[in-house]
Amino acid sequence: IKNPSRVATGGKSVTFEDIGGQETAKNELLEALDFIKNYDEVKQMGIRPLRGILLTGAPGTGKTLLAKAASSYIDSAFISASGSEFIEMYAGVGAQRVRQLFKTARDLARKNSKKHCVIFIDEIEVIAGVRGKNTSHMEYDQTLNQLLVEMDGLSAKDDDVNILVIGATNRPDILDPAIMRPGRFDRIVKVDLPDKEGRYQILKLHTKDKPLADDVNLEQIARETFGFSGAHLENLCNEAAILAMRSRQKVISQCHFMEAIDKVIMGEKMNRKPTK
Ligand code: ATP
Repeated sequence: IKNPSRVATGGKSVTFEDIGGQETAKNELLEALDFIKNYDEVKQMGIRPLRGILLTGAPGTGKTLLAKAASSYIDSAFISASGSEFIEMYAGVGAQRVRQLFKTARDLARKNSKKHCVIFIDEIEVIAGVRGKNTSHMEYDQTLNQLLVEMDGLSAKDDDVNILVIGATNRPDILDPAIMRPGRFDRIVKVDLPDKEGRYQILKLHTKDKPLADDVNLEQIARETFGFSGAHLENLCNEAAILAMRSRQKVISQCHFMEAIDKVIMGEKMNRKPTK
């Protein structure tokens, strides 16, 4: 059985400074992570260790970035997988993959200086949708049951390591309430589309290594990009740079950003077009 998970190796690690806006989400996450930082104290007080955090919000709002930053903040090892990778046609494969993921995480945690490992599961709704509501429900149910078994077992069998599961979804409405029970994903952090200030901060981050003309007004761009996610803004900055290069400019001007806004909106509309 192939292991679908990815272990983060090398590269620059993401920190909370690399994430623009999202102040509420960051603060809520930091508050939860401090429980893990002060693990010994928490244990001493007999507090149940935090095992799961659920990040909910629209696509491209920075949930993956937040999970990575959370992992760096607690100096943890990091392993990620996506819900859809667990589901195969063959019965039992999903459950086996979940077992394998947690086993790999425990091995990574043992090698980590702080004995921590963060397991990030994106698109968790694929495996954690309400049980019995999927077409091939047996396989989905078994996979979710295995996830719950693994999470429930964390405190008991892993006294030497500390595993934190961070799930992400843009469909919290379809999740099986069983996953939100105490000891499972008992912290929910909402990651909203950025407001004007958030968009400005994200634009600042994504233009910091780009050559900008003097006329560039990021505040105006932030005002004109209502409804854009962080991923849209990253794409916008990239498109603006491409437009500048195509018109043989050495620097990116405000007009390139304005044109790029239209391109991103058009691209989004094309993506949304229903396919026959
Ligand atoms: P999905 O739900 O589609 O998996 P996501 O919420 O996990 O999306 P990310 O993968 O974290 O979103 O973000 C995608 C990209 O968008 C990031 O790599 C980054 O370039 C940019 N981005 C998103 N949000 C932010 C942010 N708050 N600050 C800076 N960059 C951001």
